[in-house]
Amino acid sequence: MNLPTRQEQKLPDCWDLKPLYTDDKSWDDDFKKVTSSQKAPFWPELNRFRGHLGESVEIVIEAFEILFSIQRKLEKLFVYAHLKHDEEITEEGSKGRFAKIFSLYQQFGDERSWFEPELLALPQEKLKSYLNDKRLGDYRFPLEVIVHLKPHILDAQGEALLAKSEEALTTSYRAFKALTDADVVFPDVKDKDNKSHPLSHGAYTFYLRSSDRTLRKETFTTFHETFSKYKNTLAELYQGVVKNHHFQAKARGYESCMQAALFPRNIPTAVYTALISSVREGIDVHHRYIDLRAKVLGLDKFHLYDSYAPLIDGVDIEIPYQEAVDLVIASVAPLGKDYQETLAKGLTEERWVDRYENKHKRSGAYSSGCYDSPPYILMNYKGSYKDLFTLAHEAGHSMHSYLSKNRQPYPLADYPIFLAEVASTFNEELLFQHLLKSTKDEKKRIFLLTQKLDDIRATFFRQTMFAEFELKTHQLLEEQTPLTPELLNNLYRDLTQFYFGPTLAFDGHAEAEWSRIPHFYTNFYVYQYATGISAALLLASRVMKGGEKERDSYLNFLSLGGSNYPINLLKEAGVDMTQGEAVKSTLNLFSSLTKEMELAFKK
Ligand SMILES: [Zn+2]
Repeated sequence: MNLPTRQEQKLPDCWDLKPLYTDDKSWDDDFKKVTSSQKAPFWPELNRFRGHLGESVEIVIEAFEILFSIQRKLEKLFVYAHLKHDEEITEEGSKGRFAKIFSLYQQFGDERSWFEPELLALPQEKLKSYLNDKRLGDYRFPLEVIVHLKPHILDAQGEALLAKSEEALTTSYRAFKALTDADVVFPDVKDKDNKSHPLSHGAYTFYLRSSDRTLRKETFTTFHETFSKYKNTLAELYQGVVKNHHFQAKARGYESCMQAALFPRNIPTAVYTALISSVREGIDVHHRYIDLRAKVLGLDKFHLYDSYAPLIDGVDIEIPYQEAVDLVIASVAPLGKDYQETLAKGLTEERWVDRYENKHKRSGAYSSGCYDSPPYILMNYKGSYKDLFTLAHEAGHSMHSYLSKNRQPYPLADYPIFLAEVASTFNEELLFQHLLKSTKDEKKRIFLLTQKLDDIRATFFRQTMFAEFELKTHQLLEEQTPLTPELLNNLYRDLTQFYFGPTLAFDGHAEAEWSRIPHFYTNFYVYQYATGISAALLLASRVMKGGEKERDSYLNFLSLGGSNYPINLLKEAGVDMTQGEAVKSTLNLFSSLTKEMELAFKK
């Protein structure tokens, strides 16, 4: 597996960044123009509103207009720089541009930091009259979000200090990425025939899906032993990010890190804790599936490197990219012709997608863009079923962005992360149902069922376990307990043992798994995968079973973007997340799919 260099990639396989900038030079030119002054304040046109927001609603509207227009331009610069950077993370020019725009963004944070506190310092009566003023238009909800934060916004000086400290306080994450993406070198791994294979982040998930148990075991062991070597550094880096969350929460007067993370989007902490307790209560269905896996693989004891082993031979397929696109497009038929046509163009001729891995390309996959760009997709596409579902997943994100951008004005277009995973997992479910229906072969059906169960396992059970790890580490730090490598290892081992049940044989080096998970560097993020898949599965079944009305209410939900709080938007689509009903129905679905598998294997 010799990776091509970036220059060796074929143009149609790479995303087309021309809608953003024709080349680096035009980015450089635009960068020079984005500030109206060469020295601070870089945006005097914004600064002149300072001290005047209490005068009238017209002034507030004008200030919002300028604020959003600067932000929009910065986002465009930022997105181009970060995409170019991710194509080849060692390229010096891209690194430089990324650093420049990152630091200008910080500067913007500094310069706008007076805005919220000044609004919040206004008398309640005045804020109320602003919020009730029809002229506020698209700025009404952004203003409401600010007013909602009132108890946790500092005075102008405090906010300026927090904004200034941000770059330094996020060093942990950048150091983690530099260490794990660039500096860490993995030894080769051997398969059952003693043949060597190079190990990388991309190769890791690929080898773990191999039917060769020697290769899986070697891959899992080598990967985690490599991370174990850096356990002190990685524990410090992780503790650094938790300390930052703790510092921010305390500085803003929240009760806990969890509350600080959930409050801005108005998500009750009960949504988080109910997820964990409901899953713990129903964990038996997960154990039952693990037992089935072990039985089918002929094992007395289940090891973590058996988690993704194919349960059935002969259906390990390679799907070329174009075929994957055709399948994804056919699967979204329940969402209508317009949706299908837009997505088909995006995934092919409009080149939203950067398809294949190259040397020094960022690992993983994501959907990213801004108001003035297509919704790009980074892939490291290798042709497995997993890659096919990843494409459907990212396409779901991208269409959510696309529809919301088309319908919403800039200030209301950005949907919160809490909602993001609904659109992506919804599309995965459509793809699953489409494949299951069009597959007559019993073996292939079993294969698909396994994929689905493993997918729910990874998105729902595993992420809930991560969410619990995250909650516990933050609570420990809140009680002033230092997060040592031993503590983190023990905590991770106990949780894994509980979630996987008595059939699991826990290997020592597997304790290091927590230390390589990039999502732990994003504040209370992963639980949203679990809540997202629950909501998505309910909605998908509604749309597939329903008619035009159900489809339109879902499409309407996608096009609402960030125009309201996420819990309210989901209510419009038909799911009440404070009730735990979606979580319970996911547990039931998982249980019935497991039973279907048990029957299929008995046959
Ligand atoms: Zn996603």
